[in-house]
Amino acid sequence: THLVGMTRYVFITGGVVSSLGKGIASASLASLFKLRGFNVSLQKLDPYINLDPGTMSPIQHGEVFVTRDGAETDLDLGHYERFVDIEMSQDSNVTAGRVYSNVINKERKGDYLGSTVQVVPHITDEIKKLIIIGAKKSDIAFVEVGGTVGDIESLPFLESIRQFGLELGSKNSLFIHLTLLPYIAVTKEIKTKPTQHSVKELRSIGIQPDILLCRSSNFIDESIRKKIALFTNVSKDAVFSAEDATSIYDIPIMLRNQKMDDFIIKKMNFKKNKSNIKPWTEYKQKVSKCRQNVKIAMIGKYVDLEDSYKSLNEALYHAGIINMLKVDIDYIDSESIKKSTIKSLGMMDGILVPGGFGNRGIEGKILAAEYARENGIPYFGICLGMQISVIEYARNVINLKRANSTEFNIKTSNPVIALVDEWRDSKGKKIIVDKSNYGGTMRLGAQKCNIHKNSLAYKMYRKSSIDERHRHRYEVNSNFVKFFKGSDLIFSGKSAREGLMEIVEIKNHPWYLGCQFHPEFTSSPLRGHPLFNGFIEASFRGKI
Ligand code: GLN
Repeated sequence: THLVGMTRYVFITGGVVSSLGKGIASASLASLFKLRGFNVSLQKLDPYINLDPGTMSPIQHGEVFVTRDGAETDLDLGHYERFVDIEMSQDSNVTAGRVYSNVINKERKGDYLGSTVQVVPHITDEIKKLIIIGAKKSDIAFVEVGGTVGDIESLPFLESIRQFGLELGSKNSLFIHLTLLPYIAVTKEIKTKPTQHSVKELRSIGIQPDILLCRSSNFIDESIRKKIALFTNVSKDAVFSAEDATSIYDIPIMLRNQKMDDFIIKKMNFKKNKSNIKPWTEYKQKVSKCRQNVKIAMIGKYVDLEDSYKSLNEALYHAGIINMLKVDIDYIDSESIKKSTIKSLGMMDGILVPGGFGNRGIEGKILAAEYARENGIPYFGICLGMQISVIEYARNVINLKRANSTEFNIKTSNPVIALVDEWRDSKGKKIIVDKSNYGGTMRLGAQKCNIHKNSLAYKMYRKSSIDERHRHRYEVNSNFVKFFKGSDLIFSGKSAREGLMEIVEIKNHPWYLGCQFHPEFTSSPLRGHPLFNGFIEASFRGKI
């Protein structure tokens, strides 16, 4: 029953340390297969207990990536979409929390009546089932197991892929282990011992890797490959090198140069069709031609961990490449922005206020938006950044002095941003929504938005209906829209279904736009994204 269709599975595990770039390696490999004409799928298994990363701080776990169908997922899914150009879904990210929750629900329903519910076989069977669903009947399914071999948490997942590999047979399954080869500067040596240990650990739970992908600072030579092969029971030609790269988008080329895809095709008995890495070599060429810089200030709150704004960073870089520019991002902690120092933003070519939650650093963001508006500096407000624009304009131009979001001040008399449930009550009586179920109350996923023809947004998108992804609770308060009538602030995009304000812009400004959705999730290295492309273009134009 497990062997649905003809899908073959590639499982990717990691060893020695985390953050080796397993997601990027998986995505790069999947990209090679997609470009060779295979139907591919990607899936991330995360061993933590949260149902999804939606409730985790970005400082802990990096950005929460939102899929078109509204799943809050691991940021690796962003890499999958950007590298492979396919859409991820709810099924593409499976956490231990999800697995256990499914099993416990079944147990309560009586599905296992009579038996003791155990990790093996009940949890492992559930994991296998979710892997098959995630594979979506593709030709080749790439399944990345989060965490590092040796973690207590990953065990049920590793046991599942071990069982599954056996059921599938060696032609239909393949195990890749990503490890680290540390370089000891004093003795100028690359060390293989941690890799030996990591594979030993993997083999002790019954998984013999077919391929080792070795992260190191430099390309690893024949002698090191030979040594690793000897100690890990892997053949020498199955040891591949993943040395540090200047751009993550060079990795598909790097793997192709070593013919890693050919190795897999041979091992899995696939039809050997022609390889194609043209999009990546063209991309690389474009990057090499980017000479001039553009400086963007990112006024955020999670500025200590770049991963918190992963898709945003990527979208800015993509837009840079499209415009033949290098983008320098200056991360500025919004709490550090004060009236007395705001002028330092004058050095920036563009100002971006990203999404965020909670009221820390809000006033600094409002100051930044005001500065951008008054000084004609291109401004891009995303989600919270759009709400900031509305608050700023309401306070400083419309003269609604106490304008605020009820997220930051529940008692404000000018709730220009509020929960829909709050502003539906026209008598000013606030309905406090139940916040006990924090994970499940957001507007999530892609929704249709209609754009006014005579607007900056239309100029960027060149169409009047778009589809963008959301992740927020608060909205521009419809009851306050009338106050902006006749001003320079226009709402140029509205949600097709409920007529909610989706895009705000300011007339008579070089480039000022805020959107309630997250365009960064759909930016691609090869196409960029209309709004980011336009923002970077305008930022550069303002500079010269
Ligand atoms: N905190 C705001 C809201 O919930 C904005 C969320 C965001 O920027 N993603 O509406």
